[in-house]
Amino acid sequence: MAALAPLALFAAAYGVHLAYITVFYHRALAHRAVRLQPATLRFALATANWVTGLDPKAWACMHRMHHAFSDGPEDPHSPARAGVLGVLVAQLRAYERTLFGLLSRHPACLRQVEDLDFPVHWLNRRGLWWLPYALHTAVAAALAAFLRWPYGLAYFLGLMSHPIEGWVVNSVGHAFGPRNFETPDNSRNPWLAALLIGGEGLQNNHHRYPRSARFAYRRWEPDAGFLLCLVLERVGALAIDRDHLMPRAAAAERVQA
Ligand SMILES: [Zn+2]
Ligand SMILES: [Zn+2]
Repeated sequence: MAALAPLALFAAAYGVHLAYITVFYHRALAHRAVRLQPATLRFALATANWVTGLDPKAWACMHRMHHAFSDGPEDPHSPARAGVLGVLVAQLRAYERTLFGLLSRHPACLRQVEDLDFPVHWLNRRGLWWLPYALHTAVAAALAAFLRWPYGLAYFLGLMSHPIEGWVVNSVGHAFGPRNFETPDNSRNPWLAALLIGGEGLQNNHHRYPRSARFAYRRWEPDAGFLLCLVLERVGALAIDRDHLMPRAAAAERVQA
């Protein structure tokens, strides 16, 4: 039983982190596949950088470049160029480059996010990018000191999992697994990555229909991120863009037949 509480803490911290990444950063900001209600948007913009350590505008900008140049020479993090392991470092460097590009008003970066009418987060404008990481480290140290070390580790690994989870999506999702669609890139649908990372592993489906809030094409493809969008829509926090939802495999195959 003693091991269950830290595991539950890890799951909760990871769930919060992943909800921000897959719903807010990815489906809402980068692709506008869901439209956040104004209060949700204000809340997310105020809290996201503190929770994840990542700037929302820089993340969206880097991700749009990934879609614009997917697996080509200008893709910020392609395993075709950096190698599967090398994506771990390539994505970090690309994020830093993008954030610096936005701060120095580089036209190639600004062009990608013209429609996002909010600035780079003040933490990053003032060179305080490290503050959320320091805060989470302090909270983890306090949990380790006052409870036990597994609690501190569970909290930190759950909230700060983005390098690993980004690496799995960006490398495995573009190197291994089946494809449903012929796309110009090498995107794939690794099932296990989709299961563990809120549907984000379904890169091939997502590159074929980037404006779709749902990433699952076949019934057995897991997409917890879309389920969360449905819940958030039900409570009035956002609206799913239903004009751009990808078709379901069964329906598409019926039409072809
Ligand atoms: Zn991709
Ligand atoms: Zn995307």
